[in-house]
Amino acid sequence: MRRFLVAGNWKMHGSRAANAALVSEILLAGQADDGPEILVCPPFVYLWEVGRSLKDGGIALGAQDVCAEAGGAHTGEVAAGMLADVGCSYVIVGHSERRALYGESDQLVARKFVAAQREGLTPILCVGETLEEREAGRTAEIVLRQLDAAIDLAGPGAFARAVLAYEPVWAIGTGKNATPAQAQEVHALLRERLAAKDAKISACLRILYGGSVKAANAVELFAMQDVDGGLVGGASLNGEEFRRICGAARKPGA
Ligand code: PEP
Repeated sequence: MRRFLVAGNWKMHGSRAANAALVSEILLAGQADDGPEILVCPPFVYLWEVGRSLKDGGIALGAQDVCAEAGGAHTGEVAAGMLADVGCSYVIVGHSERRALYGESDQLVARKFVAAQREGLTPILCVGETLEEREAGRTAEIVLRQLDAAIDLAGPGAFARAVLAYEPVWAIGTGKNATPAQAQEVHALLRERLAAKDAKISACLRILYGGSVKAANAVELFAMQDVDGGLVGGASLNGEEFRRICGAARKPGA
């Protein structure tokens, strides 16, 4: 059975003081055996300090991006080995803000995916369509193209140590989430694509939904068969709200 994962993407928010307050709120969520795995992804400069403040609270640390290169003359970049060195176990790759604002291609994202795994990090590969693409009936084409780029470079076996996140661009930071049925449809499609290459790995792959997840919609979204948790932006900056979202990450009847 797949264990839920609820990941907070803090984006470019925070300060040392604000992070300390947020972490102490999040730690109140604790870690129950039947609860979700919980992850926070602060900006690079705060990773070390946030990681230390998580102490033994059972909450994982992740970064929001990584360089595709292993090191060397890449001013301003951060290598996967450095992220592992400061305690990260996860890294988000291919977030739509990186694709749209920083021109990251499917191929670059795939290289970041591989670079992360090479250092023992679990990449969270984000895929998702814009509103224009959805309205043009191109959702499947876009998300499968984004997934295929990583499968082609890393191989299907690499998804035994990865997480996928479906994040429709039109739902990110807009307050307008995908309906549970819309999310389920795309998650099932993504799972099928990987199953065609490796059914066993596909069945174990966690696929998160991201896009305006909040406590008020999390139960419904997480109840979908192929939704294995959430990648949460705005709502992860409110400790109580984030805890409530984590509390929603249980299959009905569990
Ligand atoms: C995100 O940035 O990954 C995200 C899903 O943001 P939000 O929850 O604010 O829509």
